[in-house]
Amino acid sequence: MTMEETVRALTDLSEVDRRLAAESELTKRAANSLEGRRAALREAIPGNFLAAYDDLGRAGRRPAVVALVRGAHCGGCYMRIPPQLEGFVRRGQSLCSCPHCRRLLFAPAPAAESGSGLEPTRHAAKPGPAVKRAAANRGRPKKPRPS
Ligand SMILES: [Zn+2]
Repeated sequence: MTMEETVRALTDLSEVDRRLAAESELTKRAANSLEGRRAALREAIPGNFLAAYDDLGRAGRRPAVVALVRGAHCGGCYMRIPPQLEGFVRRGQSLCSCPHCRRLLFAPAPAAESGSGLEPTRHAAKPGPAVKRAAANRGRPKKPRPS
């Protein structure tokens, strides 16, 4: 390496180090702000739900909180949930656990449900698509599976 090349390499290295330092400073700041948000959220969430959330996390079930998809299916394990439980979830009275994977279930906003990615977006803008689809799913033969 000539002296000229060495000087160029050193100035390049200096620039790379400067960018790396700036990058890690940004990352550190982002991490700090996420930590702060995390602490605030954990503070606000009722203890029993937080405990359930942590249990699911330890069990490797992430995301631990999922929306219903395709009418009455868990957005985590995609198993069908019983109609009674679906009713509970949709009324939003409490967070219910999926009977198959224990993830916490919530009802998606009607507009969001069509975007769950499992099916092409049909019924997209009509009112009450979830209700209609749930009714349709109920009458549709499904692959047999042990109950
Ligand atoms: Zn599930």
